[in-house]
Amino acid sequence: MIIMSSEATEEQIKSVVEEIKRYGLRADVSKGEFRTIIGLIGDERQIPFDRFAVMPGVKEAIRVEIPYKLISREYSGLSGDKNENKKIKVGDVVIGGEEPVFIAGPCAVENRNQLFRIAEGVKKAGAQILRGGIFKPRSSVHSFQGLGAQGREEAEEALSWLKEAGKQYGLVTTTEVRGESQIDLIAEYVDILQIGARNMYDQDLITAAARKGKPVLYKRHFGAGIEEFLSFAEYMVAEGNKDIILCERGIVPVGKGKNYTRYTLDLSAVPVIRKETYLPVIVDPSHGTGRRDLIFPMSCASIAAGACGLMVEVHYNPAEALVDAQQAITPEELTQIINVCKNLHKMIASYRH
Ligand code: PEP
Ligand code: MN
Repeated sequence: MIIMSSEATEEQIKSVVEEIKRYGLRADVSKGEFRTIIGLIGDERQIPFDRFAVMPGVKEAIRVEIPYKLISREYSGLSGDKNENKKIKVGDVVIGGEEPVFIAGPCAVENRNQLFRIAEGVKKAGAQILRGGIFKPRSSVHSFQGLGAQGREEAEEALSWLKEAGKQYGLVTTTEVRGESQIDLIAEYVDILQIGARNMYDQDLITAAARKGKPVLYKRHFGAGIEEFLSFAEYMVAEGNKDIILCERGIVPVGKGKNYTRYTLDLSAVPVIRKETYLPVIVDPSHGTGRRDLIFPMSCASIAAGACGLMVEVHYNPAEALVDAQQAITPEELTQIINVCKNLHKMIASYRH
């Protein structure tokens, strides 16, 4: 990482970038209010840091060992904006801004009517972003895999409903991208690309998704440590896309006997991640608990822990849902959650940074 002096000129910054490229690495230039810092992307062993340290305009050239320096608050703080949070703008919605964001919708898009009815409900409840799985990751090949599995035409039709519902109800849209071959198609229709927990480690998928330039909603794998999660998020930012929304969605429960929840929602990860990175963090209490009766308390707890938003599965008649019926809540329940969470978010606003 190269820290430029506060008086460094554009020319000097440019020549440092050129020099980095000459060694076969890429440069991530972040200009702060006070100074510019240049992150090195690639094999840093190639870099003679001492030589860089004496280049004109350079204040310091340091080898950074942490695997996620580009998204690290500490290193971005060197340019003077340590407390600055990344705000991601999608249409009229700001993720990581003053207001909490609520992503809601069915686990899976089942048909046009189901999606539109749920979209209307979540909009009325106060959500800003509509979710709906079209390519579903499922544990069994014998269960409903989402409309995307039925063929290209069906996938495209379901994606067009999502887009249309988003337009009709004024909602930003997101759906999961499960494979590289789906990226272009999905990016044509939705605003935010979702990477599911199972694919957190898929370097090729996540970098290709990030390269599309659209915001990415990135879920933590249920067996991943926080450092690993952030290290893989770094892959996307290294592609030049800083619009990454991190999502805690529960980790594998421990111990023998009944655990009572589908996963263990790791809420201490929220303030920890916020301390480590400027990227926004949301929580998915639906997959995290797998129980509709726990969505309200865990939503409140998530916001209290510092989450800047929630992703919740909603259905007008949860019993009817083809996937994850046991964790879906109604639009009326969502209304309550949003009202309480907005107040909670306000209450803790001055303690957040
Ligand atoms: C989802 O949000 O639709 C989903 C499958 O969640 P996860 O990837 O967290 O299991
Ligand atoms: Mn689900």
